[in-house]
Amino acid sequence: MNRAEEDYIKTIYELTTQKNQSLIKTNELAERFGYTDQSVNEMVKRLEGKKLVSFIPYKGLSLTTKGKQVAIRMIRSHRIWEVFLTEKLGFSWESVHEDAEMLEHATSDQVLEKLYHYLGDPIHCQHGNPIPDLKGKMEPTTNLSLADLEVHDVFEITRVLDFKELLVYLNEQNIKLYDHYQVIEKDLFNGIIKIKRDSEEKTISMKTAKMLFGQKVNS
Ligand SMILES: [Zn+2]
Repeated sequence: MNRAEEDYIKTIYELTTQKNQSLIKTNELAERFGYTDQSVNEMVKRLEGKKLVSFIPYKGLSLTTKGKQVAIRMIRSHRIWEVFLTEKLGFSWESVHEDAEMLEHATSDQVLEKLYHYLGDPIHCQHGNPIPDLKGKMEPTTNLSLADLEVHDVFEITRVLDFKELLVYLNEQNIKLYDHYQVIEKDLFNGIIKIKRDSEEKTISMKTAKMLFGQKVNS
């Protein structure tokens, strides 16, 4: 399997889990990659031929069991490399994505398992995304975002989108994983949310708040 095929498989998996739906439309894939419908259709045919996806005309496509295994392996490899790059090589969390994208395709099972144990069988990557275990099982992810909370609620950030501009911004704002913030004002008209940690107040956009996931904690 080549890198383009693996990336398709991974993206189909991610779209299915993000949207929590069993079928993905080919135009959703075209949109995500910025490719033409025609090139997406050709790739889907190729993946169907390899029994990695099943396609129902006019309905959409889904991964087969074999396809899911490939996707989970890629995700596992990606996130294990992210842990290695940040914890062992000192990379910052905003700068590991591209290298992990390359390394995930180039890693044998043997290297991956050694690396995983070397890192102490980590459960999450640096962005709070769960790492599937050896059997492909992973912790369910929370989809509750900071934007969903009400004034006075206290929120613990446990996962952020792995998106460079966001991560750089969070560094500037000194917002980290596992920080607790209380919502002190929600201004939907202007699209901003004011949050507080100890005595420090911050104003962030609702757009950013929608990219920070976690859980409500008792204040
Ligand atoms: Zn990550």
